[in-house]
Amino acid sequence: MARYSDDVSPYAGGTELLLAMKMHFADYQHLVDLKRIPELRTIIRRDDIVSLGALATHATIADDAIISGAVPALGALCSSIANARVRTSGTIGGNLCFAEPRADPPVLLAALDAQLVLKSARGEHHISASQFIIGALETLRAPDELLLRIEIPVTACNIRYERVVFGHRTIAGAAAAIPKDPANKPRIWVGCIGTHPTSLPTTERYISANPASLDDGLTHAIATDIGTLDIVSDEDASADYRRHLAETVTRRAITAAADKKGTP
Ligand SMILES: Cc1cc2nc3c(=O)[nH]c(=O)nc-3n(C[C@H](O)[C@H](O)[C@H](O)COP(=O)(O)OP(=O)(O)OC[C@H]3O[C@@H](n4cnc5c(N)ncnc54)[C@H](O)[C@@H]3O)c2cc1C
Repeated sequence: MARYSDDVSPYAGGTELLLAMKMHFADYQHLVDLKRIPELRTIIRRDDIVSLGALATHATIADDAIISGAVPALGALCSSIANARVRTSGTIGGNLCFAEPRADPPVLLAALDAQLVLKSARGEHHISASQFIIGALETLRAPDELLLRIEIPVTACNIRYERVVFGHRTIAGAAAAIPKDPANKPRIWVGCIGTHPTSLPTTERYISANPASLDDGLTHAIATDIGTLDIVSDEDASADYRRHLAETVTRRAITAAADKKGTP
C-alpha cells in the first residue's frame, strides 16, 4: 500500500470496488487482495470485547456463534443484507470503508459504540465507528491504511436495528441500544437518509429522563432530532418520505429494544 501510494486500493470482496471500477467512478493501477491475509477474517471474544476481522463476510457474521451470543442484532442484520451472492463475498470492512450512504452496518456499529483499528506502515490507530464516516463515500481512513478489525464492546443493553428497504438498498435505518441499567446512556442512531449516520441526542436525553416511557414525548423528541437533519431526495425516495420513515423506524427500534424484544 505504501509502495504504490495514491494509485492503489485494497480489494476485499469486490462487490462495490469492481462495480465502481467498471463504471469508471474509480481507477487504480494496483489492487491489494486482502483475501490472502487469513488473520483478517477472525472473529474472537476477549472478555467483554468482540473483535471482528475486517474481512469477515456478511454470511460468516450471520452464522457465527460468537456474534449470535454477544451481538445477535449484528448477526440478524448481516443475514438480511443484499442477496446470498453479495453476503458470501461482501465483507464488513468493505461495507464500512466504502461508506455508501445507504449502508446499514455503520448505523448499528455506531450505536454499539464500536472502535475501528486501522494500520499502515506508519503504525496503528483506533477510531470510533461513530466518527469514521464523514460524508457520502468519505471516511477518515488514510489512503495507505487498512482496516484490520472492529472491536465491539459487549454491554448489558437491549439492541435493535430496524430498516425499510426499497429495491436493493435501505432508505431509512435506525439502531437503538438501550442499557438495562437506566443509569447508563442510551445510544440512538439513524442512517441511510443522508450522507452518513447520525446520533439523535434529544431522543437519547428523553429516554434517559423517562426510561419506561414510550409516549408522545418520545415521538416528539424523535421528530425534533430528525427535523434538524439534512435528508437526501433521490429516485428511491423523496426527503419528506425518508423523514417519515426515519421517524417510524427509530420509534420501532426503541420500542422493540425497550420491550426487551431487542437482543442482549
Ligand atoms: C445488490 C447489492 C445489495 C446490497 N444491499 C445492501 C444492504 O441491504 N445493506 C448494506 O449495508 N449493504 C448492501 N450492499 C453493499 C454490500 O454490503 C457491500 O457491497 C459489501 O459489504 C462491500 O464489501 P466488499 O468486501 O465487497 O468491499 P470491496 O468492494 O472489496 O471494497 C469496497 C471499498 O472498501 C475498501 N476496503 C475494503 N476492505 C478494506 C479494508 N479492510 N481496509 C481498507 N479499505 C478496505 C476498498 O478499497 C473499496 O474502496 C449491497 C450491495 C449490492 C451489490
